[in-house]
Amino acid sequence: MSEKTKEVRTRFAPSPTGFLHVGSVRTTILAWALARHYNGKFLLRIEDTDQARLVPGAIKALLEDLEWIGITIDEGPSTEDILKVDPTCAGIKGIGGPYGSYVQSQRLPRYKEIADKLVASGHAYRCDCTSEMLEQERKDQMARRELPGYTGYCRHRNVGADTKHVVRLKIPQKVSVSLDDGIRGNITWDSPSLRDTVLLKSDGFPTYHLAVVVDDHDMKITHVTRGEEWISSTPIHILIYQALGWEMPIICHFPNVMGNDGKKLSKRHGATFVSGFREAGYLPEALFNFLALIGWSPGKGEEQEIFTKQEIVERFSLEHVNSAGGIFAYDKLDWMNGQYIRALPLDEFLNRVRPFVVAAGLKINEERFRAIAPHIQERMVKLTDAAPLIDFLFVEKLDRQIPEMFKKGIDQAKAIEILEASLTVIEALPSFDITSLDAALRPLADKFGIKVGPMFGVIRIAVTGKSVTPPLFESLHALGKVDTVARTRETIGILKGAGAALGAVAG
Ligand code: GLU
Repeated sequence: MSEKTKEVRTRFAPSPTGFLHVGSVRTTILAWALARHYNGKFLLRIEDTDQARLVPGAIKALLEDLEWIGITIDEGPSTEDILKVDPTCAGIKGIGGPYGSYVQSQRLPRYKEIADKLVASGHAYRCDCTSEMLEQERKDQMARRELPGYTGYCRHRNVGADTKHVVRLKIPQKVSVSLDDGIRGNITWDSPSLRDTVLLKSDGFPTYHLAVVVDDHDMKITHVTRGEEWISSTPIHILIYQALGWEMPIICHFPNVMGNDGKKLSKRHGATFVSGFREAGYLPEALFNFLALIGWSPGKGEEQEIFTKQEIVERFSLEHVNSAGGIFAYDKLDWMNGQYIRALPLDEFLNRVRPFVVAAGLKINEERFRAIAPHIQERMVKLTDAAPLIDFLFVEKLDRQIPEMFKKGIDQAKAIEILEASLTVIEALPSFDITSLDAALRPLADKFGIKVGPMFGVIRIAVTGKSVTPPLFESLHALGKVDTVARTRETIGILKGAGAALGAVAG
């Protein structure tokens, strides 16, 4: 099969059992980029055959997370189907498409049809063994130190369709199954490790093995892409394809995403769900870029690390997907996020930061916000960094870290002197711009015979409350003259009123 002659169709087939893991998104990004690279189609299919593990709201969260990170879907569950399986998803807009339903629980008759076909052709059989019988068989096998697994008791029993039964695949004896994996090359399995696996359960639901093969076939998937943890299921799928005489798609097992310690990424390493990264203030385009580069690289010797989605699509090829596990380096993501933050045009930056500042409980003054924005944009790693840097602009009552003023020979009396002098120059300033503030305040240090750092520290704490803020003059400018003067006065009052209690000179 050639990618050039056939429409490339890839899919993401999650089970709606919880939040979206970044490892799954990494695999999905590669599948999406493959489809987009060849102008193909990218599908979303909901694999909800294990009804016991369904989590209400998971489909909604999944769609929202995919949209947030920028994975566009061409075919997928319709609104109607989503609501049928999860009424808590009201308000969500589905996708639909020509090969629906894209929700497995809505396709049960199709799986039954194929299971019946496999029974009729002798590739599968009905089995009515009870769970007690299977348990006893397992125990006996363990006692004999044999590999546990179904030994095929019902293979020749001709269990009737009207008895409660499962359908099992008849795995040929001594068969060797080979896969030409799109990433790993040849993988071969020998039959001893394969047992007659269940395809259709007694409640009419298919197992993953039957459903995934039927759906990938029916939905004309050309490249099955999934994490390497699914490799052991693949020989069963190959046998089902062969039994049905269906053309195999190209199957690609992408390497796992690991933490810094080389172990599979888990919450021990840090955030792992997409929602966690969004809430922590990562930009979707940064996370997308970062995840795409875990396991895929644009080519040997390529130094570039910042890629737009479009560039990734243009340059994507399966040949450059690494077969070894990729490391999720949180510090690199932070670096990349900072790069993306700095590249945002001012208005866009404001729009991205605004919800985080509001969520921190601050009432934004737009003029001040806009004035300070370029000075925090330079420093931020995550969007959540903004609020603690600029909250002083939006609060009415300051909590001042007064003791922090008393450093490098500055005591209470000196602090009062500094603030009184700064008040005088500030009040006299004809223009309250950054350059004028700098020109007026910097020389005061010489006058007091102290270094500018500690002196600015006193002014900073007086006006902003804290010792770490965006640059001083930019902060004062954003706050405006009226509040700068009022806060300085108020601090002088506090210092004078505090008497000897604050007077001790530190370091
Ligand atoms: N439903 C499986 C999952 O949850 C899909 C695996 C596959 O892509 O075949 O990941």
